[in-house]
Amino acid sequence: MTARRDHGISLHGPMAASTAASADGPFGQDAFTIDWDREQVTCPNGITSTQWHRRQSQQGLPVIRVRFSPADCRPCPHLRDCVNSPTAQRRELNLRQGRDEHETVRTARAEQGTDTWKERYKIRAGVEGTISQAVGRCGLRRSRYRGLAKTSLQHQLTGAAINLARIDAHLTDTPRGRTRTSHFAALRPADHKVDGAK
Ligand code: SF4
Repeated sequence: MTARRDHGISLHGPMAASTAASADGPFGQDAFTIDWDREQVTCPNGITSTQWHRRQSQQGLPVIRVRFSPADCRPCPHLRDCVNSPTAQRRELNLRQGRDEHETVRTARAEQGTDTWKERYKIRAGVEGTISQAVGRCGLRRSRYRGLAKTSLQHQLTGAAINLARIDAHLTDTPRGRTRTSHFAALRPADHKVDGAK
């Protein structure tokens, strides 16, 4: 996170989507105003949170758990649209620990929906495809030799072999490989599948 700010380096990869059911829409996390200095959050209905605690997420990551008071949320006409559970009596939010980290993730999630981001990500997709081909066809994950010099030579020969295989595929009009569908993804009903799903 700090690499982008301190060193001008940006990591170009997709952020995992938020798993909260109310992640988007009028009561998604972005609709809440965070006051990091006062450690308070204001909801779209103008109510201010009452709890701000440092906790660990289910994945063991440090997070800030923000809670609104049931006394405020229970009478709220938006309660059912705002919370995930049908029995929840108040809204909770999990924030990243730190304003910079939170803003970086928020910006990255917003950026990855744009055409510019998708266009740039195609470059990485090509690199991933090349690595996959080198691993699957030439056993790139395992060195056949001992010592860095021979291993380096193996990598260079692997690169040359892939170039030859690609020239051959181009000259013989060999169709490109398709993105693999995992066994698990294949079990999903057809109307739930999305383009490019693995
Ligand atoms: S349910 Fe609570 S947090 Fe959500 S909009 Fe209503 S008062 Fe605000």
